[in-house]
Amino acid sequence: MAYKIVEENCTGCCACEPECPNQAISETSNGLFVIDPAKCTECIGHYDEPQCVAVCPIDLTCIIDDNYPRYEAA
Ligand code: SF4
Ligand code: SF4
Repeated sequence: MAYKIVEENCTGCCACEPECPNQAISETSNGLFVIDPAKCTECIGHYDEPQCVAVCPIDLTCIIDDNYPRYEAA
């Protein structure tokens, strides 16, 4: 259902946060960013590709979270 941000890779550049159509990305107290899996819809219905992945300057930082089933539009 969701993407996640790999904490070790995130630089806190904040490029992803304003691009999320679901306001699923937020800053943590340590200046890095996290995705709320309950809000992430993998950008389905909004964009052809996940916007956090598209804008993140660090490869393999926004990735699918295998702990959740893939999102399916209703
Ligand atoms: S995949 Fe889309 S909905 Fe999910 S966190 Fe990234 S920008 Fe937001
Ligand atoms: S765009 Fe990438 S590096 Fe920048 S805050 Fe988001 S996850 Fe971190």
